[in-house]
Amino acid sequence: MNYYSTGKASPPVDLRTAVVHSLAPDKGLYMPERIPALPSSFFEEIPHMSLVEIGQNVAFALFGEDVPKADLDRIVREALTFDCPIVPVEKDIYALELFHGPTLAFKDVGARFMAKLLGYLLSHGTASQGGEVNVLVATSGDTGSAIANGFLGVEGIHVWVLYPSGRVSPMQESQFTTLGGNITAVEVNGSFDDCQALVKAAFMDKELNSRMFLTSANSINLARLLPQSFYYFGAYASLRRQGRSEDVVICVPSGNFGNICSGLIAKRMGLPVSRFIAANNSNDVFFQYLRSGKYSPRPSVTTYANAMDVGAPSNFARILDLYGYSHERITEDIEGGVVSDSQILSTIRECWKKNSYLLDPHGACGYKVLSEGLRPGEVGVFLETAHPAKFLSTVKDAIREDVPIPERLLAFSRGKKVSVPLENDFNAFKKTLLDSLK
Ligand SMILES: *Cc1c(COP(=O)(O)O)cnc(C)c1O
Repeated sequence: MNYYSTGKASPPVDLRTAVVHSLAPDKGLYMPERIPALPSSFFEEIPHMSLVEIGQNVAFALFGEDVPKADLDRIVREALTFDCPIVPVEKDIYALELFHGPTLAFKDVGARFMAKLLGYLLSHGTASQGGEVNVLVATSGDTGSAIANGFLGVEGIHVWVLYPSGRVSPMQESQFTTLGGNITAVEVNGSFDDCQALVKAAFMDKELNSRMFLTSANSINLARLLPQSFYYFGAYASLRRQGRSEDVVICVPSGNFGNICSGLIAKRMGLPVSRFIAANNSNDVFFQYLRSGKYSPRPSVTTYANAMDVGAPSNFARILDLYGYSHERITEDIEGGVVSDSQILSTIRECWKKNSYLLDPHGACGYKVLSEGLRPGEVGVFLETAHPAKFLSTVKDAIREDVPIPERLLAFSRGKKVSVPLENDFNAFKKTLLDSLK
């Protein structure tokens, strides 16, 4: 399979190039040249399949031309060592819980798959420039921990996590600043958008790229993005088993729009979903686009759902591309909604009181927008993207009760924080990277 750039100004590339380079030379994002439709036999069998088996089938359709089936099956098995269950929350509303992995958030799925696939591609292609591959990742909280933990100890790969100082929760911070080894945490005096801009600038810097091998693990990377489609099919399989798979609506709390983009790709592969809903926090650039047809990125503002604090969602380019740049076609498949900070708190409180289901601030955006948008006869699923204990102070404030913390999280917070402070300045970042070669 070849991959083309959404920028349309660079030539198509093979899987290895797309994954190793992340971004096309024209600054576009790579898209698969064909989105394969899954065979009807797959949909006949799907209720009887495990999540790993589902993932292996979907992965084979996407990557089967380029990676031998036995290797692909192993990569999926090693990435999906945990379940993504569907849990009933109230009448006609289910939570798809994506927080049962090592860092208790959905990005574990894509991060672990990408680490294994990149490991495979690096050990099977012609050698890269020699020396280490440097994975640069900008994080508003959860990406950094998922990537750092997914790649921890992977030989030949060094991970640099850039995060906005003081804007991620202490619990999130501990998950990528305490690991050591091949993981370096860079604490940027700026916002998440600044971190993302520094990473993008690094990929475009000729000198840096001639001296070091750089790649990304944000959802701009295909290998992070595409495996996220697995759990959409997994959710559908569970609904089929429960006889609830007619007229399914899926609501995705969105920031960079990678998660919803993988759902839209799943739909294109044949997943029977009526429509998607994108839930925004106050960073509602996409919602405004749905309304007006105009895309006006702007600086992000800080909210309780900080992994969605994105002012210029990178996967917007992929969504436009997927729908042939038609606002009309996009609004046929995707609706939107916005949740303010005070609504995040009241939603967590009300859902806890009413359903004894504890939401995290991101899931709260999904649940609220879904409950308001669901029509009679529809079955609604919202993605619960992180464990509520990852956002302890917000959740505690909302329900005014103690929240038990899973041991996995406590173990991180007992570690010693080590970070490299950095001003929001590209030359300073470049120097930090180059100094690591000495
Ligand atoms: C990253 C993240 C999101 C947003 O996902 P995108 O793919 O960037 O849209 C939502 N919730 C949580 C908990 C996240 O970590």
